[in-house]
Amino acid sequence: MAWRFALMIDPAASDDARTDFDATFTEVDPSAPALTVGELSTQRGDGIFESIGVVDGHAQEVTAHLERLAHSARLCDLPAPHLPQWRAAVGRAAAHAGAGESVIKLILSRGVEHGPTPTAWVTVADAGDFTAARTDGIRVVTLDRGYRLDTPAQAPWLLLGAKTLSYAVNMAAIREAKRRGADDAVFTTSDGYVLEAPTASLILRRGDRFTTPAPNAGILHGTTQLSLFEHLEAQGHEVGYDTIPASDLATADAAWLVSSVRLAAPVTAVDGAPLPVDRDLTAAMNAYLLSPRD
Ligand code: PLP
Repeated sequence: MAWRFALMIDPAASDDARTDFDATFTEVDPSAPALTVGELSTQRGDGIFESIGVVDGHAQEVTAHLERLAHSARLCDLPAPHLPQWRAAVGRAAAHAGAGESVIKLILSRGVEHGPTPTAWVTVADAGDFTAARTDGIRVVTLDRGYRLDTPAQAPWLLLGAKTLSYAVNMAAIREAKRRGADDAVFTTSDGYVLEAPTASLILRRGDRFTTPAPNAGILHGTTQLSLFEHLEAQGHEVGYDTIPASDLATADAAWLVSSVRLAAPVTAVDGAPLPVDRDLTAAMNAYLLSPRD
């Protein structure tokens, strides 16, 4: 991955009335070490993050990403991020993104062990090439996430609705999917409902209705899914949040995994059984997702 830019942030208190945050930013060499060995993000994955898609220098859906960062911070008992400060940092980062597709990452960690403040930083890197996933599609397998649909409400300390830095399990699920001859995974609950993919939201189409699993604390509320649902609704389609039995995935008229950087990847097979792909609709979705969105 080509890292283009990195900015360390001295996090402002949420009631800080400043409007100019330049003094709180320190540009660092993105290819040089920048964290201390006591960092809790690296020792424990104790922190939260966001990945924002950038197209030709325009950072997409910044408000939705900042709102989810604040939501994750609340769930993790981290100090509330000062959103105008983070927005200013995103602006600084986007200016270094260049032409084509890039990704801005926002990271807020609990900080250094026994230290006084969180550690925060922003990076910009070139995005990968997702043309094949967007046009030819991806094969998925369903993988049991090992908890029931009602577990998140009963065990909020599992932080299931927060975008935490602890993604080792998500990455392990993608490796398992590849071992099974697929490209990606769709998590299911132990009582048989679909949830999300390790790094994407799931959208199904049945007739003219688009549906996605309700973000009831067990999954992230995807910014791409939200944006796409608004667009589909404006185009006259019906959209909705449902509790979706796992068996509905293989019988859907079409399905996609959607996320900020890969965008809409049509699902071509579920557990080895083929699923129809609507190439024109997928191309229209990706054209919308690549257009400047706020
Ligand atoms: N669900 C999970 C677990 C994710 O990691 C992601 C994105 O990385 C998403 C859903 C999709 O979120 P977004 O559309 O905001 O990228």
